[in-house]
Amino acid sequence: MPEQLSPADAKLQQDMASFIAAQPAIPETGLDATTTQQILAASKAAGFFQMTQPKAFGGTAANNLQLSLLRDELASHNTGFGHLVFGPGPGVLGGCDEPLKSAYLEPVLQGLKRGSFGFTEPDDAPHPTQATIDGDELIINGQKSYVTGGNSADFINTLVRVEGKPTVVVIDVSTAGVTKSRVFTSLDGSTHAAFTFADVRVPVSHCIGKPGDGMPRAMGQIGDTRLAIAAQCVGLMRWTLNYLAEHLQSSDRSGNPRSDSPVMRLRFGELRVQAYAARSMLYRTARLADSGENAINEGIYCKIFSTNALTEIVDSSIQLVGGNAVVEGHPLAKLYREVRSLRLAEGATDVLLGNIARGYFELGKGRL
Ligand SMILES: Cc1cc2nc3c(=O)[nH]c(=O)nc-3n(C[C@H](O)[C@H](O)[C@H](O)COP(=O)(O)OP(=O)(O)OC[C@H]3O[C@@H](n4cnc5c(N)ncnc54)[C@H](O)[C@@H]3O)c2cc1C
Repeated sequence: MPEQLSPADAKLQQDMASFIAAQPAIPETGLDATTTQQILAASKAAGFFQMTQPKAFGGTAANNLQLSLLRDELASHNTGFGHLVFGPGPGVLGGCDEPLKSAYLEPVLQGLKRGSFGFTEPDDAPHPTQATIDGDELIINGQKSYVTGGNSADFINTLVRVEGKPTVVVIDVSTAGVTKSRVFTSLDGSTHAAFTFADVRVPVSHCIGKPGDGMPRAMGQIGDTRLAIAAQCVGLMRWTLNYLAEHLQSSDRSGNPRSDSPVMRLRFGELRVQAYAARSMLYRTARLADSGENAINEGIYCKIFSTNALTEIVDSSIQLVGGNAVVEGHPLAKLYREVRSLRLAEGATDVLLGNIARGYFELGKGRL
C-alpha cells in the first residue's frame, strides 16, 4: 500500500513532490524548447531520469514499487511535463547482444537515437509482416499501421515472422524499401506513423534474441508499460478527485456548498471507491513483481481496471462540474481527450480480458 513505505521510499515520494513544485510553469502555448531542457536537466540532477535505466548503463534501475510510486505522485499533479521526467528505458532491446547493443541500445539510453514499436498491422494487410533468410540477411515484406513516435524515430522494433517464427527485428527507417506511408495524430495529441516494408534487407544480427522469441519479448515490453500506465492513471484519478472535491466544496447558485446535495455525495463516493481499488491493486502488483513472482496477469488487471476507472472518474467529474468542463482548454476537457486512447494502447481491453482467461485456463496464472 502507498501508506506502508520504507523510510527511503517515502522520502523518494516527497522528493518527487518537491521536484514538481520547483519546476517552471508550462507556458500557455505549451512546452517550449527552453522549458523542456530545464525540466530534463532538473530531472537528471535529481536522479529521476536515470531510474528507468539499467545499472550497467549508468542508470539506477528503480524497482516496480518505486517507479509506481513516483509515477503516481507525478501524475497526481497533472503537470503536463510527466513524459520528460523518466529517461528512455531499454524496452525490447533489453539484454540484446552486439551489434545491436552498440548501434541501438546504448544510443537510445544516451538519448542519441529514438526507437519505436511496430506490432499492430492494418486489417486489410494481405499477410502478416514476414521475412525470409537470404545468407546473412533477412528480406522483410509487410506493413505496420500504428507506430507511436514513428515520425521522428530512427528505427522500429518490429514484430516479424521470420520463416514463420515471431521475432522482434530492428529496422532502421532509412533502410531501402521502408516507406512511411502515413503520419497521424490521435485524440490524446500523440503522433504516430504507418510503414510499409518492400523487400527490406537487414542483417540477421538485427533479430533481438533468437527467432521465435518475438512474442514473449514483445509481451514483456508491453507488460512493463501496462504497470506504468496504471500508475499514471491512479495519479490522474487523485488529481481529478481533488479537483472535483474543490468544486463540490464551492457554493452553488443558492449559496450552499454543492457537496450538500445527496446526489453529488453519492456520485463522489462511488468515484472514490474506484480510485481506492485501482491504487490498492497497483501497489499490490508492483510488490508482487518486485518479489520475483510472475505478475503478468495481475499487471493486465491493473491496466484494465485503472483505465476503466479513470475514464469513469473523468467523465463523471465533467458531468458534476457541468458545461464549463467541456469548454476547450478546461483541464477536465483536456484529460477527457487524453484518457480515451488508454483503453486501446498496449492492448485493447477486450483482448486483454481474453488473455486473462487464457492465463487462467491454460497456464494456471492470475491471483485473486
Ligand atoms: C494512442 C495509441 C498508441 C498506440 N501505439 C502503438 C505502438 O506504438 N505500436 C503498435 O504496434 N501499436 C500501437 N497502437 C495500436 C494498439 O495496440 C491497437 O489499436 C490495439 O491493440 C487494438 O488493435 P486494432 O486497433 O488493430 O483493433 P482490433 O484488433 O481490430 O480490435 C478492435 C476491437 O475488436 C475487439 N477485439 C479484437 N480482437 C479481439 C479478441 N481477440 N478478443 C476480444 N475482442 C477482440 C475489441 O473490442 C477491440 O477493441 C496504439 C494505439 C493507440 C490508441
